[in-house]
Amino acid sequence: MNYIFLGMPGSGKGTQVELLVKKLNIPMISTGNLFRKNIKNETKLGLKVKDILEKGDLVPDKVTFEMMSAEIKNMDISQGLILDGYPRSLRQAELLKDILNIDIILNIELSEDQVLLRIGGRRTCKCGETYHLKFNPPQKEGVCDKCGQELYIRDDAQEETIKNRIKVYKEQTEPLIKYYGDKVINIDGNPSIPEVTEEIFRKLGISD
Ligand SMILES: [Zn+2]
Repeated sequence: MNYIFLGMPGSGKGTQVELLVKKLNIPMISTGNLFRKNIKNETKLGLKVKDILEKGDLVPDKVTFEMMSAEIKNMDISQGLILDGYPRSLRQAELLKDILNIDIILNIELSEDQVLLRIGGRRTCKCGETYHLKFNPPQKEGVCDKCGQELYIRDDAQEETIKNRIKVYKEQTEPLIKYYGDKVINIDGNPSIPEVTEEIFRKLGISD
């Protein structure tokens, strides 16, 4: 069985991917790791991607696909495969279809308000400590427990950035839910991590 995960930023998708990988003991490819690996090994595509990312541009679908395709060919996927962060658009799904059959799409659902709360509440300290206004607040508002410095909001936790990521997700990625039709399994992303994992395992028919 080959699996992909869909879910907005902040849905806890990455964590659930890891837990499913562990449970099923099958290989996983994430586009982030794939980029890093190719850049580190200085492959032809890796050098291309490095150049693109350094300019702050988006990696074209074709380049990501070529990398993905080369990786899949070199892997033993006889027991199945989990993809994280791919495909992200209909075009990517169309390319992927020719080399890999996707059996199950796990769609972790979370409302926009929840996404804003989860990511927008993150606070960071220069010392590396991280907090969350609601889930892990510092003892004194706006100040790091560990070193006493003032906390700040990282760029990716700014409301405008989050809203933009939500918009891109809705425009480009959400159409995949319709595209994959009845292969999609919806998972409620609101409860705690263990509860979400339990729902995934239960819906996949995997016993604990
Ligand atoms: Zn600190």
